[in-house]
Amino acid sequence: MEQVTDYFGSLVFDDKTMKSKLSSDVYKSLKKTIQDGKELDISVANSVAQAMKEWAISLGATHFTHWFQPMTGITAEKHDSFISPDSDGRVIMEFKGKELVKGEPDASSFPSGGLRATCEARGYTAWDPTSYAFIKDKCLCIPTAFCSYSGEALDKKTPLLRSMQAINKQALRVLKLFGHTEVTSVKTTVGPEQEYFLIDKDAYLKRPDLIYTGRTLFGAKPPKGQELDDHYFGVIKPRVQEFMNDLNKELWKLGILAKTEHNEVAPAQHELAPIFSTTNIAADNNQLTMEIMQKVAKKHNMVCLLHEKPFKGVNGSGKHNNWSISTNTGLNLLEPGDTPIENAQFLLFLVAVIKAVDEYQDLLRISVASASNDFRLGANEAPPAIISMFVGDDLALVLDSIETGKPLASKGSNSLKIGVDVLPKLPKDATDRNRTSPFAFTGNKFEFRAVGSSESISCANIMLNTAVAEELKKFADILEKSKDFENDLHDLIKKTIIEHKRIIFNGNGYDESWVGEASKRGLLNLKSTPEALPHYLNQKNIDLFTSHEIYSLSEIKARYEIAQEHYTKVVNIEASTALDMINKYYLPSITKFSNFLIESYKNKKDLGLDITYEENTLNIISSSTANIYSLKTKLEKALEYAKTITKIEELSMYLKDNVLTIMSDVRDIIDELELIVSKEYWPFISYGDLLYSVK
Ligand code: ADP
Ligand code: MG
Repeated sequence: MEQVTDYFGSLVFDDKTMKSKLSSDVYKSLKKTIQDGKELDISVANSVAQAMKEWAISLGATHFTHWFQPMTGITAEKHDSFISPDSDGRVIMEFKGKELVKGEPDASSFPSGGLRATCEARGYTAWDPTSYAFIKDKCLCIPTAFCSYSGEALDKKTPLLRSMQAINKQALRVLKLFGHTEVTSVKTTVGPEQEYFLIDKDAYLKRPDLIYTGRTLFGAKPPKGQELDDHYFGVIKPRVQEFMNDLNKELWKLGILAKTEHNEVAPAQHELAPIFSTTNIAADNNQLTMEIMQKVAKKHNMVCLLHEKPFKGVNGSGKHNNWSISTNTGLNLLEPGDTPIENAQFLLFLVAVIKAVDEYQDLLRISVASASNDFRLGANEAPPAIISMFVGDDLALVLDSIETGKPLASKGSNSLKIGVDVLPKLPKDATDRNRTSPFAFTGNKFEFRAVGSSESISCANIMLNTAVAEELKKFADILEKSKDFENDLHDLIKKTIIEHKRIIFNGNGYDESWVGEASKRGLLNLKSTPEALPHYLNQKNIDLFTSHEIYSLSEIKARYEIAQEHYTKVVNIEASTALDMINKYYLPSITKFSNFLIESYKNKKDLGLDITYEENTLNIISSSTANIYSLKTKLEKALEYAKTITKIEELSMYLKDNVLTIMSDVRDIIDELELIVSKEYWPFISYGDLLYSVK
């Protein structure tokens, strides 16, 4: 039988393959480039390209592409074949170093937020040698960054790499203060848990809303939803199991460490968790995972829904971004240590994250803001839109003892002295976890749970890395000047706890009272994307990004514009789809059903039979039809009016307050009718038939 170990990573030009295919000089030189993040020498690039091409061809590849992640959030690729004409009219397979390191896709139709509007429509792609090349559909894919000719980032990878650089630089300064001169690089690590829905493809094709918008715009709650909690970790259906086996195999061939899979809370909902890796690789792999999930699902005549809220009243899907910081010597900096000095270092990194999350709540919120995630965040099953942190009771007691100087119960009489004392053991038990917190400490990492299932994880990690880099920088600035390290360290940690403890909330994030409490604490509650996005341009955020060279001012503005535009486009598509469904399907079908009732009413009346059913139902349908008609007219007018709004922030706010509200109102009426109109007359497949479509 074929063993996983035989094919794991077989389609990746990984370290092992490089070592075997490259001469030792070329290999060493490439490794050095990767480690130092320097540009690749062209002669080395030529040799690498040659080896990569031969390897790819031997595995059936005919094309190559610079695989990149434009600001649309999905990946892009333009395939070029290896063929090149030779002198006697035949072809040879060619791939040069310069084609490996740099590409020039005609990228004018990717969103640039105005960055390329003027003189230069083209951009270029540059190989990110820290992420391995791989083969997908007979194409050698080279992970690349995408920039404009003037060097502005047009993608999600470039700023992610820059943010990793920023945290590397500042963390190294801090580590030096703790005597870690042996550490030469620090990287953030991420393990993104991916949630998704699987439904039967034939069922999917009966829902234009799913096809056009990725979510159902209408649909009454099925008689059985998730109330019995019988799906979570339940037995996986054979058809889903076959899909998962196939998916794992495809991911493993690409060296993606898909590890666990299980059913989620909602019917038809599942989760895949990979083993964590370096952040840029985790981001690349997650993009690939989403793509392959959809592809493999189709092969099994199913559709994989990645939308954050495909079904109203049913749990939505997120992506838990498990995040930590590690050194090249294998140290996890968010792991509490065994000695006083290790604990002190842990506590400093911990409070850096606490301060970062508090000061940049808005950026973290923005990093997960999208039209689709708005239906999830703040609804009762997902993390609230308020950003807060969970540290667990034990760590909370530790922080409290440092803050107040009062003794820690488990430690006897003395308060915890940083640099002198050892922390009590913190339990890493899963039962201790608070599932309602958007940002939870889980023993040796943080889990940012607000990320949406369809989103790239890059944005969340750019914000997180940069904000933490900033706090580490401030800490290093202070401590590098210190004459009494232990005392100053203690004071710094204590001061940070006092100033930022408002962000820590260990209670139930779904509880109504938290909203009031959070507001008393002065925490932000940015309920929707239009409310969150303008904070992007706050001076403190511009200062953050520009000082760490993550974004220039024009890059920030471009990203802001693109996010706004994307929101308005999504809402417009949804509204048009809803109107189409109302005009062409719901109203005519409901009318047909009422004709059927009228017919029956007349016949029964002639025969002197009871007509209560017909009469009552017709009354409801008739008034509901009038309401649907009036709301759909209102929706059409609102969309017309929206066209006249020129300021993008006004437009997105208008769409949220008006268009989405009308859509939700008209949906309520239609969903109620769905419960009384005969199935035979109802134009679309029901929630029940969708959610239980995979047998
Ligand atoms: P669970 O939350 O189900 O108990 P784990 O704690 O093992 O599972 O991990 C959940 C996710 O967090 C996995 O994707 C795992 O690889 C990832 N993870 C574990 N350690 C780290 C780390 N140091 N950095 C980033 N992600 C991590
Ligand atoms: Mg989790």
